[in-house]
Amino acid sequence: MAVAENLAAVQARIGEAARAAGRDPDEIKLMPVTKYRSVEEIQVVLDAGYRMVGENRLQELAEKCERLPDARFAMIGNVQRNKAKLVAEHAAELHSLDSIDLAANLERRLLSAGRRLPVLVQVNTSDEPQKSGIVPSEAVRFARHLCEFSAVNVQGLMTMAMHSEDREAVERCFVRLRETQAVLRDEVPELSWDQLSMGMSGDFELAIAHGATIVRVGTAIFGPRPA
Ligand SMILES: *Cc1c(COP(=O)(O)O)cnc(C)c1O
Repeated sequence: MAVAENLAAVQARIGEAARAAGRDPDEIKLMPVTKYRSVEEIQVVLDAGYRMVGENRLQELAEKCERLPDARFAMIGNVQRNKAKLVAEHAAELHSLDSIDLAANLERRLLSAGRRLPVLVQVNTSDEPQKSGIVPSEAVRFARHLCEFSAVNVQGLMTMAMHSEDREAVERCFVRLRETQAVLRDEVPELSWDQLSMGMSGDFELAIAHGATIVRVGTAIFGPRPA
């Protein structure tokens, strides 16, 4: 099946990109992105040994969770602050935290459920107004707020680079995320900033060259998304 072959090809490209950057390939985790994909397609990546997959719509994540108990779903899309309940109940991780209100709502739900949720803070590194994420200049203030929480377990940062043919413009987004990480390590050392989730089908090799630890790949594994 094409999905299994594509998965192996993407994994091999990750290994090459890591070695080209002088990095250990084991430092980089491939997270298949399963939005719009059927449970049968997702089952192929589970059978290949992947457990954590990414979804960007909460309702879809909740439904697929029920049908695929072996999978762990990371929420990677925008979450409205009143949707904390669905995240706390179904998501294994949240990679798109960009609101203190959402974090506070999550904290409350997680504490009463007795669980911790690994989260990444989404940063808007492209300055595109339609993109989610906090702006880099707000990162320290935002991160200091997050120190109040314990069940919301901060592990690092996530970004979506500019979608562009201009390689340097894409690269600038990855550099900015890494610079934001460096500032946060200095200024907010109470929290862990080790994970950098960046790079998608079109740009994951470049992201790996700039320090990505998680790449989120959809179409290169599953083929073009249905229109
Ligand atoms: C869809 C999506 C991806 C994967 O995009 P591809 O270009 O299909 O690899 C990665 N991250 C987020 C947040 C997404 O919504």
